Amino acid sequence: QRALLEQLKGKENVTKSGQKVNVYANIGNIADVGLVLKNDGGGIGLFRSEFLYLESSTFPTEEEQFVAYKQVAENMAGKRVIIRTLDIGADKQVDYFNLAKEENPALGYRAIRICLTQPEIFKTQLRALYRASAFGQIAIMFPMIISVDEVKRIKEIIAEVTEELDAAEIPYNKNIELGIMIETPAAVMVSRELAKEVDFFSVGTNDLTQYTLAIDRQNPKLESFCDTHHPAILAMIKMAADNAHAEGKWIGICGELGADTTLTEQFLAMGVDELSVSPAMILPVRKRIREL
Ligand code: PEP
Ligand code: MG
Repeated sequence: QRALLEQLKGKENVTKSGQKVNVYANIGNIADVGLVLKNDGGGIGLFRSEFLYLESSTFPTEEEQFVAYKQVAENMAGKRVIIRTLDIGADKQVDYFNLAKEENPALGYRAIRICLTQPEIFKTQLRALYRASAFGQIAIMFPMIISVDEVKRIKEIIAEVTEELDAAEIPYNKNIELGIMIETPAAVMVSRELAKEVDFFSVGTNDLTQYTLAIDRQNPKLESFCDTHHPAILAMIKMAADNAHAEGKWIGICGELGADTTLTEQFLAMGVDELSVSPAMILPVRKRIREL
């Protein structure tokens, strides 16, 4: 089985009828980049940047972050690397954030909500990302978006960052791709408007499932209720895909469902442009695509 998969290295992710799809990898630290390359990943579809914050006992500095992002971009040698901005919350406790205990952390003060409330934390990360963008094909993605206003606010903060970089003559990629995670039902419902504002979508099916089915993803007691193939989830992915394409934008899936090879055919039928999966799933997903 493994030998068969090995033979797929260097081959395209293409169906028998010629439909191509990018197969990228999800990673959570720099060491995983080696696994992505070993498994012939076409890029990184989700780099969870939380590790930088979780590993540290104080806010990681701009320089520390810059070095980490630059290293990943360089190691991926021109392949797309989508870095997700901080997605920390009351469930992932980091002492120095001083987050209050919450009754409903999944519905609480987390991710982009922290970044927009404390723009200094956000700007430090954005400056590091923009500086690193001069060293590879970095794209930036924002988690837990629910509205167009949030995206507009993000762009204002980015404009401040790029003005500062310009003033200091620090190089960065002026055409850096900006995307959002589609992981709330609200984002799906306003995806046509959101698609006008961004370059791409990436569906976070882990959270989208939790919020759509009202099932806490961390509660093992609810597993038997959690139908990951629920038609509501598939309909939402289709709706987001149609709206992305209607605005000429591309869409990927970076939640666990993207690696579910029993759904690959449906995702391709929806025109999904990218599947981002754990490094070990890259070749199995490629195999499935090539059978279709
Ligand atoms: C998701 O929600 O599907 C996702 C990819 O993000 P995370 O699992 O990090 O919340
Ligand atoms: Mg998520």
